[in-house]
Amino acid sequence: MTSNIFQDIIDKKIPADIIYEDDLSIAFNDISPQAPTHILIIPKKKIAKISDADNEDENLLGHLLLVGKKVMSDIGITDYRVVINNGSEAGQTVFHIHLHILAGRTFGWPPG
Ligand code: 5GP
Repeated sequence: MTSNIFQDIIDKKIPADIIYEDDLSIAFNDISPQAPTHILIIPKKKIAKISDADNEDENLLGHLLLVGKKVMSDIGITDYRVVINNGSEAGQTVFHIHLHILAGRTFGWPPG
């Protein structure tokens, strides 16, 4: 299995500002925040990108969204944007599925 920076965070080989962790997932602050709140939620299972996910990952992907809901509820933020970049042209730079949860400023639409 190819290693990546998020696998190193899961394995606690590099530090991260971890907000939440369970058997399936881990949430931590983005190292280069694009909004006042910018949290990443990742599965512990290595899946490079959404387009690589299988039907067996249905519950896991739903779990990530519910972790996002919990984390934001716990910090008292009701309005936020959830982003998943899939592939380089879409802006993905780390090839381990992750949800970006962004909040604390007004977001434009369409996204840049
Ligand atoms: P992507 O561009 O793949 O959708 O998002 C990758 C995100 O991971 C970026 O927002 C980037 O700032 C974040 N990131 C990259 N390396 C690290 C790291 O070592 N620690 C943390 N906390 N975030 C990282």
